[in-house]
Amino acid sequence: MGSPSDHYDIVTVGAGVSGCEAALEAAKKNARVLLLEEHPQVGLPSHCSGVVSLSGLELLGLEAHSSFSQKLIHGARFFPPHGESIEVRKKDPVALILNRMKLDQFLAKRAVAEGVELRTKTRASKFERRADEDSLTLADGSKVASKVVIDASGAGSRLPEQAGLQAPDWAQILPGLQYELVEMKEQGDLVELFFGSKRAPGFFAWSIPTGKNSARVGLASKKGNVKKFLDDLVKEQWPRSTIDATKSGSVLVSGPVARCWSPGFIMVGDAAGQVKQTTGGGIVIGGYCGKLGGIAAASAANHNGTEAEQFLRNYDTQWREKFGSDLRKMSLARKLFASLSDETLDRLFSVLRDNVVEIEAEGDMDFQGKIIMKMLKKRNVATLLPRVAADAVKAIFS
Ligand SMILES: Cc1cc2nc3c(=O)[nH]c(=O)nc-3n(C[C@H](O)[C@H](O)[C@H](O)COP(=O)(O)OP(=O)(O)OC[C@H]3O[C@@H](n4cnc5c(N)ncnc54)[C@H](O)[C@@H]3O)c2cc1C
Repeated sequence: MGSPSDHYDIVTVGAGVSGCEAALEAAKKNARVLLLEEHPQVGLPSHCSGVVSLSGLELLGLEAHSSFSQKLIHGARFFPPHGESIEVRKKDPVALILNRMKLDQFLAKRAVAEGVELRTKTRASKFERRADEDSLTLADGSKVASKVVIDASGAGSRLPEQAGLQAPDWAQILPGLQYELVEMKEQGDLVELFFGSKRAPGFFAWSIPTGKNSARVGLASKKGNVKKFLDDLVKEQWPRSTIDATKSGSVLVSGPVARCWSPGFIMVGDAAGQVKQTTGGGIVIGGYCGKLGGIAAASAANHNGTEAEQFLRNYDTQWREKFGSDLRKMSLARKLFASLSDETLDRLFSVLRDNVVEIEAEGDMDFQGKIIMKMLKKRNVATLLPRVAADAVKAIFS
C-alpha cells in the first residue's frame, strides 16, 4: 500500500471514555482530530458495570446527565466470606450508576460537536513512525498520517509494542462475567460486594442496582470457573430473578505501564493501565488522563522534534503526579488482598466493621491511598500481618 492520503494533527484510536475525552480536548485546542472506532456503534459492546463516584464525575467536568444516568448510590454493603454483612453508607449520594454505552455516545457526540471527525467500523491495525510523521494502517489496508497518535484502544492493545512501548501485563487481567438481572427483590441504594474463595477467589463479586428490581451482577476471579461462581451467587442471593443479558470482559488490575509515551505516540486509559487495581475501575482515571493526553498531543502537534516530545513526556509526568501515589497504594492493597485466605479476610472485615465511621467520613472511591494507609496502620491490622504474610507465601506456592 502507498503513502497515506489523509493527514491529521492527531489520530485517536478507540472511542471509549479516554479516547473521546482525549479527542475532545485536542479539538478544543484547534487540532484537526480523527477518532477511530472499530465497532459500528460507539459504546457497543459494553462490558462495564457503570459505577462512577460523583466526585470523579465532577473531576471529568461532567454532571449526571439524564441521557446516561441510572441511579444514585449512597455507599456499599460488604459480604465477608463468613458472617454478617457490613454497611458503609453516607447521608448524601456518593456514586452514580450509569449506562456506559450511553455515556460513551454522549462523549463522542460532544467531541464531534467540537470538530472531531469520527469514523466507526474502522480498526487501526499498525503503527509506524517515520521522520516527524506517524502512519496508521487501517484494517482495509489504507493509511492515515498524523503528528501524534493517541492509543485509547483499551486493554490488550498491540499498538504500544509497535511504538516501542510495553502494554499492561496480560497475566494480570482477570476474566469477568456479568448478568443484567431483572425481577429481583427490591434493590436499595447500596452497591453490594461479595468476597471469599467460594465466591470469587482473589477478587470479588458485585451487585450494582440499576433500577427498582434490576441490577448488574458480576464477578471477576483469578482462578476457577467464573460462570459457575456467578450462577451459584445468583442462586444463593436472588433465586427468583431472571437473566436479561450476559456480558463478559477483562478486568485490568496490573497497574500502569512504566512509560506512556514515545515520539509521536501516547497511551491513555486502559491501554496504559490507568485503572484502580483494587476494583478494576477506570472510567474516572482513564477519562481524566485522556483529557491530559489530548491537551498534550495538541501542543505537541504544534511543535517539531524534541520540543514536541517534551509535551508528550510532560503528559506522562502530569498524570502520574495526579494519580501515581494513590495507584501505588492501591497496588499494595491489591497484592495483599489477592492472596488472603477466607479466615484472614474475615478478620480484616472485622477491622472494617470497627472503623465504619472513619471510612464513611474519609473514604474516597477514586483516591483510595489515604484510607488504605490509615487502615494498614491500625493496631488490629498490624496484629494480622504474620497471618497475611503466611497467606501470601501459601498463595505463591499453590
Ligand atoms: C466487567 C467490567 C466491569 C467494569 N465496571 C467498571 C465500573 O463500574 N466503573 C469503572 O470506572 N470502570 C469499570 N470497568 C473498567 C472500565 O470499563 C474501563 O476502565 C474503561 O472502559 C476504560 O476506558 P477506555 O476508554 O480506556 O477503554 P475502552 O472503554 O475499552 O474503549 C476502547 C475502545 O477502543 C475500541 N478499539 C479497540 N481497538 C481498536 C482499534 N484497533 N481500532 C479502533 N478502535 C479500537 C474499542 O472498540 C473501544 O470502543 C469495568 C470493566 C469490566 C471488564
